[in-house]
Amino acid sequence: MNIKELQIGQEISNDQLTEMFEVANTGGMRKSRKNNLLILISDPYKGYYTNRWDGDTLYYTGTGKTGDQKLEKQNYDLANSINTGLQIHLFEVLNPKRYFYHGKVKFAGNIIKEQQIDNKGKLRDVLIFPLERIAHNYVMELEYLKQKEKLTDAEIKKRNSKEIIDLLEKHKPKTASKRLVSSMYYERNPILKEFVRRRANGKCELCKENAPFLDNKGNPFLEVHHIIWLSRNGEDTIENTVALCPNCHRKMHILEDKNDMEKLIKISKQLPDVV
Ligand SMILES: [Zn+2]
Ligand SMILES: [Zn+2]
Repeated sequence: MNIKELQIGQEISNDQLTEMFEVANTGGMRKSRKNNLLILISDPYKGYYTNRWDGDTLYYTGTGKTGDQKLEKQNYDLANSINTGLQIHLFEVLNPKRYFYHGKVKFAGNIIKEQQIDNKGKLRDVLIFPLERIAHNYVMELEYLKQKEKLTDAEIKKRNSKEIIDLLEKHKPKTASKRLVSSMYYERNPILKEFVRRRANGKCELCKENAPFLDNKGNPFLEVHHIIWLSRNGEDTIENTVALCPNCHRKMHILEDKNDMEKLIKISKQLPDVV
């Protein structure tokens, strides 16, 4: 594969990346003088959770792990890329050791100076580069991003409590990272929802307990769930729909327990007491 064949949204290995762009095989900023390009890698698995998105802009932390970050080496190259024509390609590690290609980005103006704790525990200046994606016709899917988030969570879970506290100390929560994603919205039949709520008659159809609270209109709070999810081509029908308390609803989504599913299938076929 060569650079021209690489598509936005594709994931490649470090070897492929190194070979394709002719850059070093380590580092968050990798330059190829020969190809006049700079590769930027945003990798939360490296323990630096500092990069954040705001819509289509990535606020990318410059290079330099200890002491004040200075406008030199790759930081300088990035800041001057508009004048030098240096091409900037962005990769993000969402899956350990896989590099998700965001395409070319451009440095969008002013560097932001922030203070952060460095890896020796000292407060230092870091340089934050706003980067804008050049191609806007690719939007990451919400489901994909959620799946990847689980991997990062699992990675963090392996760390001991001291490491967690150190990481928190280094990166005090600032502005939340947010980005544009695409997702499929399933419209549910409102008549069906009401029918199922009435069938449930204020009790969760799985655990049979009363709804945990009344909503602000005085109705028992239950959530409508599709036994076979709509996203898995489940039908929006009485037979596939149940009303659950929030606990059971979460449980169904997290455990997907076969016995629970069978139980619900039977219940959903029963005629309502009150309709
Ligand atoms: Zn329940
Ligand atoms: Zn559900």
